[in-house]
Amino acid sequence: MAILIKTAAEIEKMRRSGEALHQVHEAVRPFVMPGASTMDLEKVAAAKMDELHAISAFKGYRGFPAVLCTSINDEVVHGIPSDKRILAEGDIVSVDCGVIVDGFYSDSAVTYAVGTPSAATKKLLDVTQAALERAIQQARVGGRLGDISATVQEMCEAEGYGVVREFVGHGIGKSMHEDPQVPNYGARGKGPRLKAGMVLAIEPMINAGGAEVKVLPDGWTTLTVDGSLSAHFEHTVAITKDGPRVLTR
Ligand code: MG
Ligand code: MG
Repeated sequence: MAILIKTAAEIEKMRRSGEALHQVHEAVRPFVMPGASTMDLEKVAAAKMDELHAISAFKGYRGFPAVLCTSINDEVVHGIPSDKRILAEGDIVSVDCGVIVDGFYSDSAVTYAVGTPSAATKKLLDVTQAALERAIQQARVGGRLGDISATVQEMCEAEGYGVVREFVGHGIGKSMHEDPQVPNYGARGKGPRLKAGMVLAIEPMINAGGAEVKVLPDGWTTLTVDGSLSAHFEHTVAITKDGPRVLTR
C-alpha cells in the first residue's frame, strides 16, 4: 500500500487529535505513584477521553480490552490494565494511548519512573527518550525512512541496549496503522523518501538487556526474554516543509 499523504487540513485535524491525546497523558501522569494500580490509570484516562469526546483507538482493537496499554518493568508493550497490578517504588511503567478525534488517529507513549529510579533505570529512560527526540529530527522532507530507524538503533545500541525487532512504528491517519512500518533499526539513506504530508508514529522500544521478546498467553503482554527492563516512548509526527511537527504534545 502506498504511503498516504495528508493535506494541511487533515494534519490540522490530526493536531487536534494529538492535543486531546496529550491532555489524556497529562491527566494520567499525576496518578503514576507507588500504590496506584494500572486500572487506576486506565480509569483516569477513560474519564478524560469522555470529557474531551475523544474515542479510544485501542479499546476493541483486535479485542484489546482497555484504553491504555500499561507495561511494567520487563513488559515491553501491550500490558493490560488491572486492579491487581500495583505500582511500586522503583518500577517503571509505559503508558501507551491512542485516540480518534474527528476521524483521525493519534498515538503516543511515555515511560515513567515510579518514585525515584536507580541510576541505571534513569539512564534507560533518558536514552530511549533522547533517541525518540533525535529520530523525530530526522523526519524531514528529502530524508529517508532509514535515517529515522538508524538514529534510534545507533543511539541505543551504543549504550549496549537491545532494540526490539518484533514491534515497529507506523504511518497513522484515518487508521491507526498505515504504511510505512517505521522500524527502530535500519540503515541511513535507505527506505522510502520522506515527503511533506506523511505522518508517522515513531516509537522506540528499548530493552536494558537483550533485544528478544516473548508474548504471554493473554496474547498481548510482551516481555523481555531475559527479564531486563524495557522503555517505550512514542510521538505522532507530521513531516512538513518547515520540518518535523510533533502532533502529540
Ligand atoms: Mg502507541
Ligand atoms: Mg504506535
